[in-house]
Amino acid sequence: MRNPHAGQPFTDSDEEIARALLDVSVPTLMLSLVHMSGDPELIRGALKPAGLFLNEVQGYMSEEDKAAARDLALTVIRDYRDRGCPEPEPIGPELLKEMMEWLVCEPVPEEYVPMLAEEMELDGRDGRAPNALDPAACADFPVVVIGCGESGLLAGIRLREAGIPFTIVERNAGVGGTWYQNTYPGARVDVGNHFYCYSFEPTDQWTHFFAEAHELQAYFEGVMDRHGIRPHVRWETEVTQARWNDDTATWTVSTRDRDGNRADLTARAVISAVGQLNRPKVPDIPGRDTFAGRAFHSAEWDHSVDLAGKRVAMIGAGASGFQIAPAIADEVAHLTVFQRTAQWMFPNPNYHAEVGAGVQWALRHLPFYGRWYRFLLFWPGCDKGLDAARVDPDYPDQQRAVSEISEATRSVFTEWITSQLDGDTELAAKVVPDYPATGKRTLQDNGTWLKTLTREDVDLVRTPIAGIEADAVVTEDGVRHPADVIVYATGFHANRVLWPMTIRGRDGDDLTARWGERPVAYLGITVPGYPNLFCMYGPGTNLASGGSLIFHSECQMRYITDCLTTLIAGGHRSMEPRQDVCDDWVRRSQDEMRTMVWSQPSIEHSFYKNAYGEVYTLSPWRLVDYWGWTRAVNAADFVFD
Ligand code: NAP
Repeated sequence: MRNPHAGQPFTDSDEEIARALLDVSVPTLMLSLVHMSGDPELIRGALKPAGLFLNEVQGYMSEEDKAAARDLALTVIRDYRDRGCPEPEPIGPELLKEMMEWLVCEPVPEEYVPMLAEEMELDGRDGRAPNALDPAACADFPVVVIGCGESGLLAGIRLREAGIPFTIVERNAGVGGTWYQNTYPGARVDVGNHFYCYSFEPTDQWTHFFAEAHELQAYFEGVMDRHGIRPHVRWETEVTQARWNDDTATWTVSTRDRDGNRADLTARAVISAVGQLNRPKVPDIPGRDTFAGRAFHSAEWDHSVDLAGKRVAMIGAGASGFQIAPAIADEVAHLTVFQRTAQWMFPNPNYHAEVGAGVQWALRHLPFYGRWYRFLLFWPGCDKGLDAARVDPDYPDQQRAVSEISEATRSVFTEWITSQLDGDTELAAKVVPDYPATGKRTLQDNGTWLKTLTREDVDLVRTPIAGIEADAVVTEDGVRHPADVIVYATGFHANRVLWPMTIRGRDGDDLTARWGERPVAYLGITVPGYPNLFCMYGPGTNLASGGSLIFHSECQMRYITDCLTTLIAGGHRSMEPRQDVCDDWVRRSQDEMRTMVWSQPSIEHSFYKNAYGEVYTLSPWRLVDYWGWTRAVNAADFVFD
């Protein structure tokens, strides 16, 4: 069978090919040429990318060089087409590394190569897929998965591949989690889509490089159906409680459906795939309930409210508000944005760009173009962000920057922000953050945010809010800001992981109560005292410096599948991590986290921090390390029954 990443054979004319090449990432194209021709000399000449930056997919090549590369490409592609588009010969490890380094213009350390090779699947093999288990051994091992967002769907796919029976319980009426729930205007992903998708389910169908929510939701819908997961899902059903029974080594999972009907499911293992950012947090502002107009949270957008001609107050402007304001400014009569803390943002000119037909053609037909493009998006956002986030304790003025790299990052971001302000120093004072760069979630920007803020009919208010009245938001300086509608873009209960479910373990203790604001799990996945419970996107696994949650989910699910395989094949009743192993993990993670910018005391407000100013939900680790730690279960870390 032809390698699925080798591209579909084509017969397009020279003109059609030449037109397509105008759209594509030229450095990525050149690597595809090596596959088509088998000739690595094509990348050993003068034509090559000049530099690397996240989302800079042309490698800063000059227009002349790009044109020359396209001419060369046309010759190679024409020949490949005329030969009938044969499947390319596999490339060896040395050439693979050479090609990686050529594309990203820097050495790729040896320790990364196996992870990247697996991620790219150049051999056409999904290296993270589990082996199928003996059906007889699996038959009495039902698993319940809580949630059918990207991680719950992935869990279903892997369980199905392994042959383990499962049920997914999902409180929404459709798949996608965040991408199902967040329907606010402007909702889109900020990790490039050709990377923000399952490694084993690439698509040439993205219409934007950073797709809007509905397109992501549709992607997950398609994947769900291709993998036959839909029949396994109970929609519009919420898990209220899960209780471990030691006598039977089973979980009783209690559910409640849309109509209030309650049911219990029995499972040998439970996989929580509930996400971290989906329980809306609306601040208790004095007078909130006296507001006479319509008010709603960004994640519960009320589409019955017509914003046209309305005065809208948007309270909160983090990642969600940053997308909402530009998307509604044209429609409303007036928009007042209340922002407590300014956000760091960095340039991404392609943020709203459409994927040209030529890119889709290349993804469909040019051997491994999509795989190299994925790598090109992944690498600059892989572990480099950790360098800018690490605190140098000797660096002076930690309020401003935490290291030399942090200072340099601050300069690049500040320059980007101020370059859009036309010398408006008053606005600059409001929008340039006063804490170190990357200390909170950094936003991708193509200029629409500041363009929106400079409109006559948009105000940015940084003065704290004192209260809400029937028709206005009032700030501490006594100014009334009239409003017909309030949008709360105020984020989520990020530190209350698994809340509001009740999860009772071996001793009957409720896990979320035990955790409070300090949720911990070994590798973010398993918890002592809670046998056969596995978390995806669990404590300490949110990513603040790069990567993609889908990458993390794939690591976690591989590990969980290995746990389940160990349980089933070994005939065990249960497994849970050793307390000392988990304690050690938590201590090391917290020690590491305290060296990162996200823990800086100078950052006053951040959903990364709990009520005590500590960071428990984020990962401080390199992706390559997490990948290595989750490749296989170390049985010695666990207690088996
Ligand atoms: P968020 O980043 O936590 O932002 C919440 C906003 O509300 C902040 O401006 C915050 O101010 C403000 N706020 C909260 N409580 C407040 C209070 N009591 N008074 C005044 N202001 C208050 O939440 P979000 O924007 O919904 O984003 C959450 C996360 O979801 C993101 O970080 C990201 O992980 C994800 N997300 C991603 C995308 C994307 O991919 N593009 C889009 C949306 C969301 P402070 O900053 O001062 O706390």
